[in-house]
Amino acid sequence: MAKYRGPVCKLCRREGEKLFLKGERCFTPKCAFERRDYAPGEHGKSGQFRRRRDSDYNRQLRAKQKARRVYGVFERQFHRYYEVSLSRRGLTGINLLQILESRLDNVIYRLGFASSRAQARLLVTHGHFSVNGRRTDIPSMLMGPGDTVSVRDGSRKREFFKTLPDFVETRNAPMWLGRDVKALSGTVIRLPERAEIDGNLQEQLIVEYYSR
Ligand code: SF4
Repeated sequence: MAKYRGPVCKLCRREGEKLFLKGERCFTPKCAFERRDYAPGEHGKSGQFRRRRDSDYNRQLRAKQKARRVYGVFERQFHRYYEVSLSRRGLTGINLLQILESRLDNVIYRLGFASSRAQARLLVTHGHFSVNGRRTDIPSMLMGPGDTVSVRDGSRKREFFKTLPDFVETRNAPMWLGRDVKALSGTVIRLPERAEIDGNLQEQLIVEYYSR
């Protein structure tokens, strides 16, 4: 499974906003964006990068890159999601966001079982979760209404999962997901509505980017 291995905080600085990619650290003064809120690289501080953002193309490109980075998806897969969202009924942009939200790693993050999508991805690849009773190690698996994800029995003995219910209690789960904290499991009740997805994502610009 391909994975971004570069410096994560640079992605926030490139997008000019906090993308909350590192879990708890993002809420502390250690957050790199709090300390250096300018683009990375030699010309970042001079603002040259930001000045380039004014064209339509740049706005569309940045909207697409931001969504990719928030969900941790590479270009090829992201484009594939766009094509699937085109073939579905309804608004393409919202279809695209719903596909991204229904990824297994995102569902685990939204349920509060991980502090970031990156951590959720790691837990899945290490085989700690099962979907509908079957072990899986594929973070990009798409979940649909009625699908259930739970921590595997063998993993519950681990220290991380023993303390997980306390952590989960501190996090809210969205209405489109059902959660059983004690059982460390969750169910997709329905697909999320637009208002339940990150309002900072500009799906219309992403559609425009791919429709050029
Ligand atoms: Fe972004 Fe989090 Fe790094 Fe801050 S700590 S720059 S929000 S990934």
